[in-house]
Amino acid sequence: MKTHVRKRKKKNGGYIIIAGCGRLGANLASTLSNIGENVIIIDKIEDAFRKLSPSFGGITVTGDATEMSVLSAAEIEKASAVIALTNSDNTNIMVAQLAKEMFSIDEVIARIYDPERECIYQDFGIETICPAELSMKEIDKMLPTIPLGLLEAEVAVK
Ligand code: AMP
Repeated sequence: MKTHVRKRKKKNGGYIIIAGCGRLGANLASTLSNIGENVIIIDKIEDAFRKLSPSFGGITVTGDATEMSVLSAAEIEKASAVIALTNSDNTNIMVAQLAKEMFSIDEVIARIYDPERECIYQDFGIETICPAELSMKEIDKMLPTIPLGLLEAEVAVK
């Protein structure tokens, strides 16, 4: 896939790279950009960048976030944090592992849809967020009369 880098505004200092400009990725990128962070956001579909807020001042990179040429275009070696938010667990894990192991980036977060795989990747030192687990915990908070017992304990989502 052809890699296309569109620069809107670039400041000095470390970057936060976000892989996946979906609903969450675009929202996070726009919010970080609005508070003055340097953001590079990658998506394989150029049209996805339309979800960014009009005031987004970061850099967009079109391409597959698991490809080295795309990560190089995003200057991953200069990143201070990498957040993998595509809709594919495998992609998010691959991006997170590359960031952690090849580029020694300390702050790496991956969204993992499958709760059963989440623990495995936490063992590799990758911070993970699992929407199903987070939702279960929020539901538990909203049902005080029916405590699910998930707020402290491990969440078991089948
Ligand atoms: P959402 O499901 O709304 O969180 O969107 C996920 C986003 O991840 C979509 O915009 C996809 O195009 C994007 N995406 C999925 N796989 C990749 C990939 N390998 N590289 C870059 N972006 C991806």
